[in-house]
Amino acid sequence: MKLKSFKCYKCSTTLIFPLGNYCSNCGVYITPFHGLHVRWFGIVFLFSILIGYVVSNDIGIYMSNIVLGCWIIFVVIRNRISFILVFGAIPRGYNWFSLVFLVIFGVVFSVGTIPLTWYPISRIDPELVNEILSETISDSRVNLFIFIVLMAPVLEEIIFRGIIFTRFSLKWGNKKAILVSSLIFGILHVDPIGATVFGVLTCILYIRTNTLIVPIVLHSMNNGIAWLLSNSSEMQSFNPEELLPVSLVAIVLSLPVLIFILRRWWPLLGHNTPYQLNKQQNDLREYF
Ligand SMILES: [Zn+2]
Repeated sequence: MKLKSFKCYKCSTTLIFPLGNYCSNCGVYITPFHGLHVRWFGIVFLFSILIGYVVSNDIGIYMSNIVLGCWIIFVVIRNRISFILVFGAIPRGYNWFSLVFLVIFGVVFSVGTIPLTWYPISRIDPELVNEILSETISDSRVNLFIFIVLMAPVLEEIIFRGIIFTRFSLKWGNKKAILVSSLIFGILHVDPIGATVFGVLTCILYIRTNTLIVPIVLHSMNNGIAWLLSNSSEMQSFNPEELLPVSLVAIVLSLPVLIFILRRWWPLLGHNTPYQLNKQQNDLREYF
């Protein structure tokens, strides 16, 4: 283990010990995330996309998911991150029904923003937009279910909330970390606005419950609806201009509810990451 000197993020004392210990001056817990460089994820992500294109069948999609999985394993082992602390435990007494409510308004909003987002581009190149929006990841219904309802929620929640959000939060605090990690998550989706808002909601759920299980379930439900919708023939040709009125109605119906939820949750966000809180919980359990 290579020892590096670094400054405590709270009291700025220079420390020389492996990350994942308590500051000898102020006692704050220095997580192993302080040694993590998120920028590498960009390269890994591009590589996984490239594989999906080169091996242009379902095996390619499996391979690109495996690349992302390997990056998670590499990051966790190399930085000595405790995966258990990232993941958290099943919350007791959690109101799972509230997720149904959240997912309905989230999906209506996301679907509503798609025609609006792509409309300006479709005025320049309608063919391209139609191609992007009607393209399916897999022709097999079963494989599509495995990819978007099972694999994507688990991998994406671990990467964007478990790793990237946590790293950013230790650098900039919860609120800025939520916005930046959700924007990155958003631009990688065909519905950037909807996906960014979805990212914000899942980050908040992660902070409130200290477990990735709740965001994964929400993500899975959300993608489950997308999986059901992708079966309908209406998705085969997608004309943003025709859908614009429906799009606006969907946004007008869902946006006030999402704003209400965010205004209620946003001020309640604390300063700690789930990783730090789970660490505290674990230490207490060991102590008593
Ligand atoms: Zn300190």
